[in-house]
Amino acid sequence: MAVQLPVKATWTAGKGGRSVFINPYGVRMMAKSQTGKLKFFWCSKTRVFNCPVRLILDTEEDMVTRIENEHCHDSDIMKENVKKRVKLAVENSVNHNSVPRKVFKDLSNALLADESLSAGCSYLPSMRTFGKAIQKKRKSELGICDKLPTNWEDMELPERFSVTSDGKPLLILDATIPEDGSKVWGFASDLGLSILKKAKDIYGDGTFEICKKQPLFSALGCGGKI
Ligand SMILES: [Zn+2]
Repeated sequence: MAVQLPVKATWTAGKGGRSVFINPYGVRMMAKSQTGKLKFFWCSKTRVFNCPVRLILDTEEDMVTRIENEHCHDSDIMKENVKKRVKLAVENSVNHNSVPRKVFKDLSNALLADESLSAGCSYLPSMRTFGKAIQKKRKSELGICDKLPTNWEDMELPERFSVTSDGKPLLILDATIPEDGSKVWGFASDLGLSILKKAKDIYGDGTFEICKKQPLFSALGCGGKI
């Protein structure tokens, strides 16, 4: 990519509100020295990738007057753009209660379909990391603490989980077993129950993966075929 020099310098917000100078290729640069109005920059990836790019900035005019060599790595812009898309996908997933695996797949496909971003797929996190980010965001939005209860006394059902997202009853069974104080909760919406009532076949299944940290608890579900 050829850049006509001199060219106006580009600055972007860095960590802690500091301005960070990026060169016309979208790579962050680090200041090395200054002689009069001329400031000399090295590519910030010099150490990591042995990148040879050097640049001179006219500080009075805020113009890049000289660039030497070419970058031997991808630009930060692509990485930042992919990171932004991931953040947005996490937020959308939380807001719309979407299935993380599907959101991740849609995001990967969208990146692949976008010519300017397809090469940035390598910056995508793993599905597991993506799922964890969604889980963390959901927990913080719902005000759920990270510490999971380990005994029945602490097993309290937050009010918001006893109704559906449109405010209809969801908790249909809330019982305590007198012998040991353990609890049984049953959840079903009116729609779910009406489907079950009409079902010719009913299937049951258990989800134990999410219950690993709470050995007292297991989740069972059933569905009907009509
Ligand atoms: Zn570089």
